[in-house]
Amino acid sequence: MKGKYEEKPFKRDRRQFLKAAGITTAITISGLIVSLKPIRAETSANTAGKRFAMVINIEKCIGCHACVASCKAENNVPLGVFRTWVEEHEKGEYPNASLFFAPKLCNQCDKPPCVQACPVKATYRREDGLVLINYEWCIGCGACIQACPYAVRYFDPVKHTADKCTFCVQRVDQGLHPACVDTCVGGARVFGDLNDPNSEVSRLVSTKRVMVLKPQLGTEPQVYYIGLDVSAAK
Ligand code: SF4
Ligand code: SF4
Repeated sequence: MKGKYEEKPFKRDRRQFLKAAGITTAITISGLIVSLKPIRAETSANTAGKRFAMVINIEKCIGCHACVASCKAENNVPLGVFRTWVEEHEKGEYPNASLFFAPKLCNQCDKPPCVQACPVKATYRREDGLVLINYEWCIGCGACIQACPYAVRYFDPVKHTADKCTFCVQRVDQGLHPACVDTCVGGARVFGDLNDPNSEVSRLVSTKRVMVLKPQLGTEPQVYYIGLDVSAAK
């Protein structure tokens, strides 16, 4: 699916942009301008007023990897890189040891270090909470990949840009759920609007003991976990 977010009039030829950025840099050096103009923070008309989040219930994940496969297919993710994956962890000690599975993906942080790190503002956070990449603007420098404390970004060898999970923005903009949610066999992944008090994600976040990854970093992740053992909270 092609997303509306790719079709907005912010597109600019990368070389044109670099030329413009070069001019801006030159002006910056001369002390007249201190930063690039802020750009794009638009929200799809279908998602205005919403604030998206995902809840992952570890107790329901059976480790089948259907989410990983559907993500790959939906987003045309190249071989060798992943937007989401399922980690296998062990807890307890013999004879009471057991396995559990921990799905990981971009946390769509409310305060995303990746956005701050991008020198050309190609990566940005929408008002509905989705952290996205303008692939036309991305110069593939990898600063965002280095800045993400969750190691969820990768360099796309086909597009030659950074990439990561977008909560399937192309589906969300049409009122659908991310592919991984719709295909989750165990019903472990729940997606929805935290601004709607009646949504399933709101109910789970307000009534269950949820945790986010690395809360001490202040990134304010919007992927919440139920039942995650601390050994997998990385
Ligand atoms: Fe950015 Fe990483 Fe947070 Fe995703 S998890 S929004 S890539 S800092
Ligand atoms: Fe921005 Fe990341 Fe692309 Fe560099 S690689 S331009 S930091 S989105």
